[in-house]
Amino acid sequence: MITTNLNKAKEYLINDEIIAIPTETVYGLAGNAYCETALKKIFTLKKRPYYNPLIVHIKSASSLNTIASDIPEIALRLAEEFWPGPLTLVLKKQPHISDLVTAGKDTVAIRVPNHPIALALLEQLDFPLAAPSANPFGSISPTSATHVSNYFEGKLDLILEGGECARGVESTIIGFEDNQPVLYRHGSISIEEIEKIVGKLIISVNNDSKPNSPGMLSRHYAPITNTFLTNNVPELLKSFQGRKIGLLLFKNEILIEKNIIQEVLSENGDLKEAARKLYAALHRLDKSDLDVIIAEKFPNEGLGKTLNDRLQRAIKK
Ligand code: AMP
Ligand code: MG
Repeated sequence: MITTNLNKAKEYLINDEIIAIPTETVYGLAGNAYCETALKKIFTLKKRPYYNPLIVHIKSASSLNTIASDIPEIALRLAEEFWPGPLTLVLKKQPHISDLVTAGKDTVAIRVPNHPIALALLEQLDFPLAAPSANPFGSISPTSATHVSNYFEGKLDLILEGGECARGVESTIIGFEDNQPVLYRHGSISIEEIEKIVGKLIISVNNDSKPNSPGMLSRHYAPITNTFLTNNVPELLKSFQGRKIGLLLFKNEILIEKNIIQEVLSENGDLKEAARKLYAALHRLDKSDLDVIIAEKFPNEGLGKTLNDRLQRAIKK
């Protein structure tokens, strides 16, 4: 059921059930972060492997100390600057935080979401919410309540309606090594914005061989349709003549024959708008019974790095 009933949502969560909630990044599958029954339900419904840790959502930076310890000064500065907002901090965990949340690590990922409904809900609860994205493991993240209900028809009792996600891609994840900030995942805050606060960032974004941010698999966020990423769409198009093709384009349509569906993400070339629209466009293309999706590479700066990262992970290896 898609609803705006916060009281009902609260009731489910208090009874160790899981629900979908809106955030400014993507919709989350939320449960009581202090309850192992609820945590297990998240993994089961998502078919998420237990080695992939969850992000804990809190209502404000003032409850950070109940989840994390030994917090570096620089982490507090980042929290002050970007919370509520799409920045996740990986910090040393308090002993009571479950291994299910952290995948057995001694660190925990935390953020304050910037969505009025998520914040209103957290405000009414006396526990934080563990919430990964509300999609089956490995598939395209949901940016609307309808995306969530398409995925979990009949398996999820309550989806809180919160409109389309304002950011549309996942949070940026920062960890700390020797008190130095390290980028673990590109996200909806660009590296440049973070470097304005902390100076040069160490970049350690995961692929399958780098273990520091488990779950950041090289294939993730993926449509079912075979997908390609290229700097030269017209060139790649030639090799798929006669096939049903979907194009995911940054600014401009390409004039070509029918049989080709084109999704343009931002006519003004605004990377923020493109980020907001990316997953919805991928969902539409994936439902269009295509032989292939060809995505255009974004400029490799600011949020363009995040968009390229997600598209790279959408490609079948
Ligand atoms: P999701 O909630 O689906 O956006 O995914 C959460 C992601 O946060 C995981 O896939 C990890 O990449 C990252 N993460 C969560 N906890 C940790 C941690 N303790 N250390 C490093 N990365 C983490
Ligand atoms: Mg996810």
